[in-house]
Amino acid sequence: MDWALSHGLVKLGANGGVIHAPFTLEPFPIDPAVCGRLAALTPLYNRLARRVAESLDFLSETLGPAARDDPFLRRLLELARASAGAQPLQLAINRSDYFLVAGEGPGVWRALQVELNTIAASYAGLASRAQALHGYLAAGTPEAGRLLANDPIAGLAEALAAAWKRLGDPRRVCLFVLQPGERNVFDQRLLEFALRERGIGVVRHSLEEVGGQGSIREGKLAIGGHAVAVAYLRAGYGPGDYSSPDAWRGRELIERSDAVAVPTAAAQLAGSKKIQQVLSREEVLGRFCEADEARALSGTFAGLYDPEEPVAMAEGALPAWRAALEFPQRFVLKPQREGGGNNLFDEEMTALLRTSDAAERAAYILMERIAPAPRRSLMVSEGALRDGDSVSEIGRFGVLLADGETEHLNRDVGYLVRTKAADSREGGVSAGFGHLSSLIESAE
Ligand code: ADP
Ligand code: MG
Repeated sequence: MDWALSHGLVKLGANGGVIHAPFTLEPFPIDPAVCGRLAALTPLYNRLARRVAESLDFLSETLGPAARDDPFLRRLLELARASAGAQPLQLAINRSDYFLVAGEGPGVWRALQVELNTIAASYAGLASRAQALHGYLAAGTPEAGRLLANDPIAGLAEALAAAWKRLGDPRRVCLFVLQPGERNVFDQRLLEFALRERGIGVVRHSLEEVGGQGSIREGKLAIGGHAVAVAYLRAGYGPGDYSSPDAWRGRELIERSDAVAVPTAAAQLAGSKKIQQVLSREEVLGRFCEADEARALSGTFAGLYDPEEPVAMAEGALPAWRAALEFPQRFVLKPQREGGGNNLFDEEMTALLRTSDAAERAAYILMERIAPAPRRSLMVSEGALRDGDSVSEIGRFGVLLADGETEHLNRDVGYLVRTKAADSREGGVSAGFGHLSSLIESAE
């Protein structure tokens, strides 16, 4: 814990003081071949998300039914339409999250994607700190040589700097859009410092401040005497961030100006659960990528269902929502929301399915519940040690800088490992379940 406090593996506690972030004492073992395959998928997911974001009709059609009773989703769709083309340069900072499950045969692992995060993909900073902690703990042991290095901040900063440079005016700044009361501030600061080291100015504001104090001058977003080159959103992914008209105005200013928005409303929507579900259909995926890319991506798809579509069960085909009522432990019900804590499991899921009609169910997707093999872990959180069964979710960070189909940059820049108690359903670190970890090459 003292190492964590001394090296930035930290967050703000509930009373405002600095406390260590939750971490594991040991890295998570992974077959290097599996790890390499995941890293190789990152540019493909980046490209897929970019192409989906460019397809406004597809976004509108696919999200339309869910948006009908969801003002937040509707407004994002309207924004995406209204601002199309405001800035042709696209910058994405994504994170694709996976669980590893036992494949066919001993020692064979298969990665199943949980989701692709296209907005506020966090923990690039603290992930590198957790890896450094494990390096410290392993020093002088045979494990030290098998730890997998991790510095996603360098990759994120490189991508943000490349976009900033293309706008051609070194006086313009990078705007970090933050939630008021954010406790994961040091994770964000590590990226800010990396930008400042590259000579890039950084300003920090909430969406509400951008709306209240910002303006557009000659196409440029101006705030506090600065012109913004890149607007990097670590807020704005949920309706709670838009509790005032100023906050929506802030998002609109970012979208309508020539600032490179990470992400745009369209790119944010491309990462929604409904889009993930529809892309799992072969004919839909095929519209956005080549056959070999589609094959590689679909190898990571878990079962994803529209609640009304038939699913083959042992006793014959059932609409997915009926199958989930009968076998709740095999499914997760997901609304069009980001940021953790929104998914419905078990009784919460069945209660909703029992009382909703088809129009209400259209706001959700059903996903096969992924069951990774539990492993014993030592997890440290808020000063307490927990020794128990755990599962680990691996995220791969990807950056993409593109002008239409021309990709200036598209690569994997590192990983995140979050380890949670095997009996906890959600995995978020901020939500208090996940513990930051790292990867080690498995011994066999
Ligand atoms: P969010 O956008 O809220 O982060 P996610 O889809 O990432 O939504 O789900 C949050 C957490 O719930 C994940 O980190 C994971 O721990 C758990 N989870 C999500 N989908 C599944 C699934 N299909 N099977 C098992 N656990 C899941
Ligand atoms: Mg997630």
